[in-house]
Amino acid sequence: MNLRIGLTGGIGSGKSTVAAMLVELGAHLVDTDAIARELTLPGGAAMPAIVAAFGPEVQTPDGALDRPRMREIVFHDPAAKQRLEAILHPMIREQTEARAALAGHGQVVVFDVPLLAESKGWRERVDRILVVDCSEERQIERVQSRSGWPADAVQRVMAQQATRAQRLAIADDVIRNEELSLPDLKRAVAEVWANWPRFD
Ligand code: ADP
Repeated sequence: MNLRIGLTGGIGSGKSTVAAMLVELGAHLVDTDAIARELTLPGGAAMPAIVAAFGPEVQTPDGALDRPRMREIVFHDPAAKQRLEAILHPMIREQTEARAALAGHGQVVVFDVPLLAESKGWRERVDRILVVDCSEERQIERVQSRSGWPADAVQRVMAQQATRAQRLAIADDVIRNEELSLPDLKRAVAEVWANWPRFD
């Protein structure tokens, strides 16, 4: 058996940094965002079904999903969003489990799920949920310095994500990444790691 941890946090919270620290401690990381992206790259497993459902115009010349075009379609049409999700979600789930199955005996499996609080069904799929939390001001500041985005672009993404309160409501463990230096964050991650139960 493997302990299964769902890791989430708003954009800029430090979730990816925490994921990397957990890997250093020995976790087996499953990056659900990377899986979702791979499914819609050129030759991606979801592309035939997406093209069948939405037509060849949602494909770039090299056969990847034309993201801006698709975003435009689902923005104006909630039913299209549902159709897209009906194609992608089962595939993401299958791939996620396939990668989780590669974990070693007794290894802690960490599922990095940016939209865990927004998605149905995750609670039942993991033993614990770890939320990386910080203030919205800090989120904006970090994404601005990481990616050079203007503040309003960060705020637009944040507006589409769950609120801090919604994430905290589902958390079993919280790392408050507000005033911590990176070495402090590492210590906080190690403490959470040490307190998790282990299954044989
Ligand atoms: P997320 O995955 O939640 O969007 P990241 O882990 O990429 O966020 O963190 C956003 C940025 O902030 C990165 O450049 C990261 O190095 C930096 N960062 C995160 N936490 C800290 C911290 N405690 N001290 C300094 N920089 C941090």
